[in-house]
Amino acid sequence: APIFSARDISKVYTSGEVEVKALAGVDLDLFAGEMVVLLGPSGSGKSTLLNIVGGLDRASSGTVRFRDEMISDYPEWKLTRYRRAHVGFVFQFYNLIPSLTARENVALVGAISKNPMPPEEALEMVGLKQRMDHFPAQMSGGEQQRVAIARAIAKRPEVLFCDEPTGALDSKTGILVLEVLCRINEELGATVAIITHNADIRRIAHRVITFRDGKIEGTEINQQRLNPA
Ligand code: ADP
Ligand code: ADP
Repeated sequence: APIFSARDISKVYTSGEVEVKALAGVDLDLFAGEMVVLLGPSGSGKSTLLNIVGGLDRASSGTVRFRDEMISDYPEWKLTRYRRAHVGFVFQFYNLIPSLTARENVALVGAISKNPMPPEEALEMVGLKQRMDHFPAQMSGGEQQRVAIARAIAKRPEVLFCDEPTGALDSKTGILVLEVLCRINEELGATVAIITHNADIRRIAHRVITFRDGKIEGTEINQQRLNPA
């Protein structure tokens, strides 16, 4: 069974008189331990769908199930609890707290998590053990993103949602970040879903889901990745 099932998801954003239909009847299943890429033009609804599945936003209609739980029916407090327990997020911009060191930024998660990873372990996993006591301003963009990933995995999420994680990085640094995401998928067994335009990520994904105009246009299974020769 899938870990997530989203069914017939539609989303309309309203601002004043203007309505934007961001998603129109989308179905999505995510399976335990898979690595999925969401591809498609800007504005095609990728972020909106991940935010709904991850419990950051709500659909206008449709349902989202996480394991046996219908999270689309949850009241706000329960949705927050679900997010804190199960889901990690990584965004294009790292959102680190500038006055705290890498270790302290990661340790913050421990305060709201039941069984957190020690910050040292999370930072080691992203290859930043030697930068633990540095502040964000003392680190490169790629390093800051790896701290943000360490923060996201420190609560041992079953799922990691990444929205353009390499969007602000040069391609060489982006590849380092990708390798970290692969390691998280393989070593922690976390489901990883990544929104990206990065061609290198398509190579490492198990599945590539393509969006267009608020709909899923197609799904491509990466046979090479599923059955390594
Ligand atoms: P993608 O991630 O594929 O770039 P998005 O999900 O961000 O697409 O956006 C889908 C559509 O919804 C776009 O037309 C976008 O402008 C619109 N949209 C996204 N977020 C908001 C918002 N908070 N308010 C109004 N419109 C939004
Ligand atoms: P918490 O688990 O502390 O309640 P949330 O689940 O609300 O935090 O959000 C997870 C993380 O993602 C937080 O660090 C939050 O600041 C960040 N976040 C949420 N939405 C966005 C966004 N649209 N862009 C950037 N960061 C965001």
